[in-house]
Amino acid sequence: MSDDLHEVYAIRYGHHKRMSPANFLGGDPHDVLQPLDFYVWAIVGPSGTIVLDTGFDEAMGQKRDREMIKPVRDGLLALGIAPESVKTVIISHLHYDHCGNYDLFPQACYHLQDREMAYATGRCMCHQALRLPFEVDDVVAMVRKVFAGRACFHDGEDEIAPGVTVHHIGGHSKGLQSVRVKTRRGYVVLAADASHLYAHMDGGRVFPLTYNVEEVVEGYNTLRRLASSPRHVVPGHDPLVLARYPAAKPGLDGWVARLDAEPKDA
Ligand SMILES: [Zn+2]
Ligand SMILES: [Zn+2]
Repeated sequence: MSDDLHEVYAIRYGHHKRMSPANFLGGDPHDVLQPLDFYVWAIVGPSGTIVLDTGFDEAMGQKRDREMIKPVRDGLLALGIAPESVKTVIISHLHYDHCGNYDLFPQACYHLQDREMAYATGRCMCHQALRLPFEVDDVVAMVRKVFAGRACFHDGEDEIAPGVTVHHIGGHSKGLQSVRVKTRRGYVVLAADASHLYAHMDGGRVFPLTYNVEEVVEGYNTLRRLASSPRHVVPGHDPLVLARYPAAKPGLDGWVARLDAEPKDA
């Protein structure tokens, strides 16, 4: 393996049945079932394993009425990744479904954008409409990591390891960042919530939960610019990801997909 090429995996841990109007600003005329899946991502390369986002646990799934399919820990173990050994975690943003399971990575440094931490601890959280996707315990857990010297802040674009960079997108959350990874098939971009579904970036449509609509739609251009092709952009909540990409190993179908492999269609 070249010294900056990585394997990339999507690990599905949760699911939410919902109708399509709930997924788009302004609703959706089709009114069909359009569920969301919940993922964390593993980036495996010469600098070790980097985990993007930490998901939620069983208790949070129940609180938020989201189904937890398999614990995040089990998905990592299925890939042979011991969470205790992970040194680098990237947090795309601080919404409840991206930054739970605080104690799963005791050795890790957590990489996030300055703007996300400021947003999640500042005046915007005085407003119910803006704090809706945040959990105070999640945010406090991140504050504790700051004080423990285990947070690493970025402002805009930065390199996490050779071949792995973070890119501030904003839009959905003020400090949302996406991740670009150099792989054997080119640059794969893990959008996280910069595009929940393929339908968002493909159709220029917007998820209802949004801090800034302009940044959302401009963000789609940024994702495409960063990726080797539009087929290299991986949305953050789309069940189609597991249909398009092969299972990481036999027996992991519908659970862990390999994203540095060619997608089956699309
Ligand atoms: Zn989000
Ligand atoms: Zn999300």
